[in-house]
Amino acid sequence: MRRVSILGATGSIGQNTVDLIARNPDRFQVVALTGGANIDQLAADARALKAQLAVTAHAGHYQALRAALSGTGIEAAAGPEALIEAGARPADWVMSAIVGAAGLAPGLRALEQGATLALANKESLVCAGRLVLDTAQRHAARLLPVDSEHSAVFQALIGEDISAVERIVITASGGAFRDWPLEALKEATLEQASSHPNWAMGQRITIDSASMFNKALEVIETKEYFGISPEQIEVIVHPESIIHAMVGFRDGALMAHLGAPDMRHAIGYALNWPDRRHLPVARLDLAQLAQLNFRAPDAARYPALALARQVMRRGGLSGAVFNAAKERALDHFIAGRIGFLEMAATVEAVLDRFETDPGLIDAPMTLDNVTQTDHLARIRADETIGARAG
Ligand code: NAD
Ligand code: MG
Repeated sequence: MRRVSILGATGSIGQNTVDLIARNPDRFQVVALTGGANIDQLAADARALKAQLAVTAHAGHYQALRAALSGTGIEAAAGPEALIEAGARPADWVMSAIVGAAGLAPGLRALEQGATLALANKESLVCAGRLVLDTAQRHAARLLPVDSEHSAVFQALIGEDISAVERIVITASGGAFRDWPLEALKEATLEQASSHPNWAMGQRITIDSASMFNKALEVIETKEYFGISPEQIEVIVHPESIIHAMVGFRDGALMAHLGAPDMRHAIGYALNWPDRRHLPVARLDLAQLAQLNFRAPDAARYPALALARQVMRRGGLSGAVFNAAKERALDHFIAGRIGFLEMAATVEAVLDRFETDPGLIDAPMTLDNVTQTDHLARIRADETIGARAG
């Protein structure tokens, strides 16, 4: 029996993880599940999976969660501290699927107890890559990628030497607006940005796919996770989302990972690693697909990609600034306070402002410094947006 926990169990990745675990109740013992305001879902899954502990991120929902679990013997807890404690509960495998920088601290606690951390929360690596990797190493904990592109690269690298890698190519669907005329992007609505052509995901990552901020985060995630230089990382627009990533070796070979756009592949791979087991994902019919298309990403359409390059050049805590400013700009776009293109403009302005006080970016990468930088970047994003508004 493997003891497993899911941080962010009620979300899109979390629910796919619940699905895979529920199919194999004899192989897994569920320790902790965490969620946000969706108490009904959290309680139902905790009951169905016979979890030991259920945690809501919101202190105000504690009574509701307790009531929903009464008579089950399942422990209920609430608030940010309880969330971090959930990561520290002894487990063999922990899914990190909280969205945003909020996933960093509980994930670090899971690594500190030596658990294998299945990392969907790419923001952890963007904000604090070195810290996450060092923590894993110090506690002999394993970090497995769950992002589909990074799982694909990981799989293409099995048995290979990273020094033989010439380049890593990650694919991007191009998101909701890939075929829109550029001038129309300014007017793109929340509803339009919230529907993805190929993948069913949480709202935030879906909008980040339309703006390519998701791919920008993933380029940084690739650099951090695989330790290769930014010049070796390429992004290609591939509208079908069938090839998830490719690894090019120095002999010219290009290894591609193909699969239906279903996150249960990457999640299931990390769940069963190092074994491969049957997964309930669609098998590809290549004759029916008939063709796969590729095009270079348009820099004018996707300014987020150039910002990711800027962040990788700058290093230090600039990833934490980038991610936090992006999260805040996204909050404002969702709230209808800024337009679609203003998200990238805001992030760029915040990165520039931090350059006037470079000491902040160059501070040592501790959890405290990352948290403080994240906090300050959100304030700067609010100020930038406030200044633009009036
Ligand atoms: P989601 O919005 O569907 O779910 C997020 C989960 O985190 C929910 O359980 C929610 O309750 C919880 N949560 C949100 N804010 C929180 C906070 N401040 N504190 C504690 N918990 C909080 O998101 P998702 O699409 O499942 O994405 C989760 C993570 O996985 C993200 O980092 C995303 O980038 C990554 N990811 C997602 C997909 C996908 O297909 N959805 C693919 C690759 C990577
Ligand atoms: Mg991805």
